[in-house]
Amino acid sequence: MSLTERDEARPQGVRTHVRVLIVGAGFSGLAMAVRLKQAGFDEFVVLERGDDVGGTWRDNTYPGAACDVPSHLYSFSFAPNPRWTRAFSPQREILDYLRDVARRYGIVPHLRLGTGAEALRWDDSERHWVVDVDGQGRQDRQGGERAGYTADVVVGALGALSEPSLPDIPGIDSFAGTLFHSAGWDHGHDLAGERVAVIGTGASAIQFVPEIQPVVAHLDVYQRTPPWIVGRRDRALRPLERRLFRAVPAAQKAIRGGIYWLRELLSFGFTHPQRMQAIQRMAAAHLARQVPDPELRRRITPSYTIGCKRILISNDWYPAIQQPNVELVTDGIAEVRPHSIVTADGTEHPTDTIICGTGFHVTDFPAGRRIHGPGGVTLSDVWQARGSMEAYLGTTVAGFPNLFLLVGPNTGLGHTSMVFMIESQVAYVVDALAHMGATAAATLEVRPDAQERYNERLQHRLARTVWNRGGCRSWYLDANGRNTSLWPGSTWTFRRRTRRFDPWAYRSDWGPAPAEASPRPAQNAQPAPIGPPAAAPPGRGSLD
Ligand SMILES: Cc1cc2nc3c(=O)[nH]c(=O)nc-3n(C[C@H](O)[C@H](O)[C@H](O)COP(=O)(O)OP(=O)(O)OC[C@H]3O[C@@H](n4cnc5c(N)ncnc54)[C@H](O)[C@@H]3O)c2cc1C
Repeated sequence: MSLTERDEARPQGVRTHVRVLIVGAGFSGLAMAVRLKQAGFDEFVVLERGDDVGGTWRDNTYPGAACDVPSHLYSFSFAPNPRWTRAFSPQREILDYLRDVARRYGIVPHLRLGTGAEALRWDDSERHWVVDVDGQGRQDRQGGERAGYTADVVVGALGALSEPSLPDIPGIDSFAGTLFHSAGWDHGHDLAGERVAVIGTGASAIQFVPEIQPVVAHLDVYQRTPPWIVGRRDRALRPLERRLFRAVPAAQKAIRGGIYWLRELLSFGFTHPQRMQAIQRMAAAHLARQVPDPELRRRITPSYTIGCKRILISNDWYPAIQQPNVELVTDGIAEVRPHSIVTADGTEHPTDTIICGTGFHVTDFPAGRRIHGPGGVTLSDVWQARGSMEAYLGTTVAGFPNLFLLVGPNTGLGHTSMVFMIESQVAYVVDALAHMGATAAATLEVRPDAQERYNERLQHRLARTVWNRGGCRSWYLDANGRNTSLWPGSTWTFRRRTRRFDPWAYRSDWGPAPAEASPRPAQNAQPAPIGPPAAAPPGRGSLD
């Protein structure tokens, strides 16, 4: 897919103005772009710092990478894919699917690949965002410097799991071997015959460890907290099934609906931890079946309620860690030396390569440092001052006009497909833009009191969930122990909540002149409407 330039001939130093600037071209950015187009709105650009679309599925290319929600559900409602070859698709198929969506829905001309949004600053006098860009997309084809963008509205589709987190271990910088994160797999490095250390036993590690174990000479797996694991019901989809899905799309839709509602039932357990016993018994039975050694079983049995940390699915993790070339290390890492890792008990483990399966920056949202609201205050500053990340419906933040975040605070899930949440948020944003169009509002900003009330209720509901009460310390919780990651309930409730834009939770500004203090109703002299036509946006009103 080639980077398509519409503004390459612009003179150096002049910013390109767009009505809507989407930052990020993963599931969220692409859904936003498609829905805008379907709503009849074409004046948008999608900035993507990577050289391809796909986000998570472009970056996480480690061996064994695959989704852990069935593909019929882990895909867009508007773009069913009859070509999935497995129940849980591998990374490559998901990436191809997202590329195909970008092509089929006409998003390619809107993409600016290799173009990172370096800084986004709200200009209060012009009532728009000023966006500096970096990366190779900064150069136009004549070799000139692109001056960046201005945008009436910014949609941040930056990803919640897009900034890999490396462990802060004494001496790690002195390591002389190869070191990489699972989200930046070094495919040029041959692990064959090496002594490899894997740090972490989370969702990525349990996928790649069984893949690399047969290749390496020795594998040390460093475990801090064991995960609860249930069996993975993966299987190849038969050609006959694929032909059926192609000929009768309703059949695939019905299966998708079945998977959706089964998974929704699970959400009840997460919000009522005492109901998690049945599934914990299932996970314990899976462990007992696959690990006969009682001593090893003791070391890998979690001490917290299932669901507190992400429930993982795997049939080959336990067999892999019992292979003769694998050692499970549960003593904490004290230091890294140029050719070894030393654990707290003083043992030195010779190591050629370290692979960090150590997750992502989630609750500190590094992208917040790039987003400067009125007066130059950054999103990170605001959240730091509050002590935690916080948004309204995970989408808008008081003090940041005309900014919408996709997969923002408290939109994450423990039980089902993130794509469902993303589509809910996207419908809300399309409706908000339609509202701006219909009322000719220049700005929309969520009211601080609406955001506060919303978050009080949200935290109240989270307080009784397994994530807060299950007895573990997970990446869902921030440094203050506050759950700023997850949505506490069914995704259906979230969809209902985001079905319509709710203008009463927002304040609007109509006039371009700051001197005019009171908002004016839409009149002839107002700036052109921002949003798509006020017609009802698609994709709302039913599960799909
Ligand atoms: C290994 C892995 C497996 C997962 N499996 C599942 C699963 O099975 N089911 C599920 O529901 N969820 C899963 N997730 C969560 C997954 O991240 C979401 O489902 C979904 O892909 C998020 O899409 P997104 O577009 O919001 O974010 P991302 O896919 O992270 O995309 C964000 C994009 O924004 C770009 N970007 C960031 N900053 C900038 C900038 N400053 N300028 C320009 N571009 C920028 C990034 O390069 C990236 O392309 C998984 C996550 C990981 C890491």
